[in-house]
Amino acid sequence: MQGNSPQAVTVLGSTGSIGVSTLDVLARHPQKYTVFALTANERVAELAQQCRRFNPRYAVVASEAGAKELRELLAGEVSTEILQGVEGLCHVASTDEVGAVMAAIVGAAGLRPTLAAVEAGKKILLANKEALVMAGPLFLRALRVSGAQLLPIDSEHNAIFQCLPYPCGGLEEVGVERILLTGSGGPFRTRETGDLHKVTPDEACAHPNWSMGRKISVDSATMMNKGLEFIEACYLFNARPEQIEVVVHPQSIIHSMVQYRDGSLLAQMGNPDMRTPIAHALAFPSRIDAGVPALDLIAQGRLDFEAPDHQRFPCLRLAREAIDVGGSAPTVLNAANEIAVEAFLQGRLAFTSIAAAIEKVMNSAPTVELTGLEAVEAIDLNARELAQQAVGAL
Ligand code: NAD
Ligand code: MG
Repeated sequence: MQGNSPQAVTVLGSTGSIGVSTLDVLARHPQKYTVFALTANERVAELAQQCRRFNPRYAVVASEAGAKELRELLAGEVSTEILQGVEGLCHVASTDEVGAVMAAIVGAAGLRPTLAAVEAGKKILLANKEALVMAGPLFLRALRVSGAQLLPIDSEHNAIFQCLPYPCGGLEEVGVERILLTGSGGPFRTRETGDLHKVTPDEACAHPNWSMGRKISVDSATMMNKGLEFIEACYLFNARPEQIEVVVHPQSIIHSMVQYRDGSLLAQMGNPDMRTPIAHALAFPSRIDAGVPALDLIAQGRLDFEAPDHQRFPCLRLAREAIDVGGSAPTVLNAANEIAVEAFLQGRLAFTSIAAAIEKVMNSAPTVELTGLEAVEAIDLNARELAQQAVGAL
């Protein structure tokens, strides 16, 4: 933060689970942060409420109809300027007046605005893992050129970041042997595998430890979330796949660990509440109150660990294969997953067919280099079409 003036923060996806948690943290520190822009896809009434509360300079809605609705809802109440569509999102993510951007749109829809923030050299708080997974090499290139700062919000990556020295010259240079990426195993870790084909969207979205949007909740249930996070960690920490190991830790108290050459294993712990990584990244390298109670270790009593069950969670293997193949394979994996999850949530695909649909697409889409944004978007679109066909055939 420069001087004593508050930092202007854009919250992309402010009506979502991460967006709401971000606003909760920002509201605790009005002298440090101002809300510059808020954005939503469909929940316009909720966005209007947020505008009344935070009076941002801009609000962005995905559709023209939504923008019109928001204008009508807010007429005469606030001075917020209302923009629309992806151009509006890119503007509020990259304009000179904004200091930090919370990238909390879910899925590929967040790619352009997040990349715009990177290209504009902003401080980016990255929750939108799909954007990084689908276009990792583009992000890394843009980061090198612009000098933007990418701070991980995903609790695991935020934990790893906290367990590494800063700046980190490279994992080998700082003596890191392995990154241990923890995951709870989701709601179906112990469910009879024979029953998994009939689980419902509501069951899949009932995560034992975290309250999240529906897409990431399904990803957690298939453990594709851990697969996407595996790829995310490779890009964020410049790690080779063999330097990362997934460890199942059902209580979600340790958020991830870093194993050093000298035998030290550093862990970051805390209650499972996304306001901790959000506050950490916002204030980095300072620490601010996040509204999260301190972890009570005595009440917690125990922490358990086990190896992931690859039979039960084939998505983990698919993600690992995608990063090993490289090029467009992670882009294809992400696109196919988004379509398969949507089909599952709409009751068009069985839970156990999510992995099958993704695998089918990965086997049929060609692997090419990611030469630029247009190439990424074309690969994404093609994989989505293949995934719709695969879903229809399963
Ligand atoms: P969510 O579904 O609760 O919210 C998504 C937000 O994105 C909403 O504000 C929605 O309006 C917006 N959005 C959706 N589609 C859009 C589109 N086409 N155009 C513009 N905006 C659109 O999701 P969430 O749980 O808050 O997750 C957001 C991101 O953060 C995801 O990438 C997720 O993987 C990541 N993440 C979430 C958590 C968590 O605890 N919720 C933890 C780690 C990472
Ligand atoms: Mg996570």
